[in-house]
Parts: sequence; structure tokens; C-alpha cells
Amino acid sequence: MLEIKNIKKSFGQTDVLHDISLSVNKGDVIAVLGPSGSGKTTLLRCLNFLEKADGGTMTFDDETIELHKASKRTIARIRKKTAFVFQNYNLFANKTALQNVTEGLIVGRKMPKDEANKIAHEALKKVGMEDRSDYYPSQLSGGQQQRVAIARALANRPSIMLCDEATSALDTMTTHSILELLKCINQELGVTLIIITHSLTVAELICDNVVVIDEGVIVEQGKTEDVFSNPQSEVAKKLLEKRL
Ligand code: ADP
Ligand code: MG
Repeated sequence: MLEIKNIKKSFGQTDVLHDISLSVNKGDVIAVLGPSGSGKTTLLRCLNFLEKADGGTMTFDDETIELHKASKRTIARIRKKTAFVFQNYNLFANKTALQNVTEGLIVGRKMPKDEANKIAHEALKKVGMEDRSDYYPSQLSGGQQQRVAIARALANRPSIMLCDEATSALDTMTTHSILELLKCINQELGVTLIIITHSLTVAELICDNVVVIDEGVIVEQGKTEDVFSNPQSEVAKKLLEKRL
């Protein structure tokens, strides 16, 4: 359903991603693991065009896109299908939960306000935040803000959600409740999840497969249980040492 081939990205003289290739099936839940600075965030940002890759292709629902040549229209179309969820929620502080969800629909997609409100209410209901729709981010806990951010992602009816350390700022109990929500979104709505995490627990609890990145290269991938019980790469061994 999503196939990426040979994604490259440099920042100035620094090569950050070297020919990353990966296949993702519809409905997969994949953890992206790797040391800090290995290129995990850059990879996900390239898939959502938050960052422009220097080369590589992405085949998505039978359409192949050359990442560095994508037109604005293509980028807008792909962005709708690949929603990004950030560690720090990225909500507008001066907008209510409802307005945070409708903003992209009204401004980005030129949707009539009534229709946007209807979709936003449905999305907020899905994440259990219906009764907080008039609250501002400062009136919400971290977990509640992340729920609103997930509702905003869902409002676009994405095929894939790209979650970058989405639970890293949350306590254990809240992390578990957000993971339950993500699992439900995956199972009920069939949304594919690509989850960057430094938490082995998160990977173990929710991800069927893991991809291990080191210095911009995929060094290992496989079923979570296989990689965790029998890591092959030095990087995976080192990451998993923490678990023993
Ligand atoms: P990770 O998410 O695995 O911690 P990142 O993708 O954030 O890693 O970063 C990979 C490398 O790219 C790091 O060396 C980082 O300093 C560099 N990098 C990331 N974004 C930028 C940027 N906008 N400008 C320059 N260097 C960047
Ligand atoms: Mg990162």
C-alpha cells in the first residue's frame, strides 16, 4: 500500500538519510526505532512533505511519486492521506479544541464551516474529547491535547498516521490510554500507523513490526517479537540492552 524506495536527504553537507526503502502494508502498525539523531523524524517528515527529500520515490495506492519533483497539488493530496502527530501536539494556543480540528478543513480544504464542524465533532467524539470541544489547549492536560491533535489528524480521514514520539511527553498511564486509542483507530478505521518511539514498551504493546534505523540506514526490520527476542544488528542489540 505504501512503498518507499531510495529516499535520500541531506542538510547541507550532512547526509541524513541514505537510500531508505521500505514496504508498508495496509493496516500495519510499525515502530521506527533507532538512536537519537539517526534520521527517524527526517524520514517521517519526508513522507509528509514537511521536509523535501533529495531523491527517492513513494508509491502510494498505486501512484508513484518522485519525492523531490512532487507538485504542490500532489503534495496537498498526499498530505491528506498521511497525517502527522507530533510529540508536542502542535495545537494553536488561541483556538479551541474544535477550532484546532476545523482549521485545516476550512482553511486548507476550503470546506464549508457547517460540514467542517460536523466532521470535527465526530473526530472529537472518537477520541473521547467531545465534552471539551470549547476548551483551549491551556485548559487541557497533555494527554487531552494529544487526543485533540489525533482528532485533527483523523478529520482528514488519513490512510496512514505518522506518529513522532507522540507519547514521549506523557506519563505511563496517559501513554497507555493514547496507545489504546491508536490501536482502536488502527483496528476500527484500518488506519496504518508508523510510530517513532524510543520506548520499547510502546513498540511491544502496539507494533506488529519494527524497523531499526542507524545513521540514516535501515539496519534491521522484522516482526517485533522476532527482533526483540533475537536482534541481529549491533544497534538493535544495544537498544534492547535497556530492556534486560
Ligand atoms: P531522530 O529523529 O532519529 O533523532 P532526526 O531525523 O531528527 O533524528 O535528525 C537526524 C539528523 O539530521 C541529526 O543529525 C540532525 O541534527 C539533523 N537534522 C534534522 N533536521 C535538521 C535541519 N532542519 N537542519 C539541519 N540538520 C537537521
Ligand atoms: Mg526525532
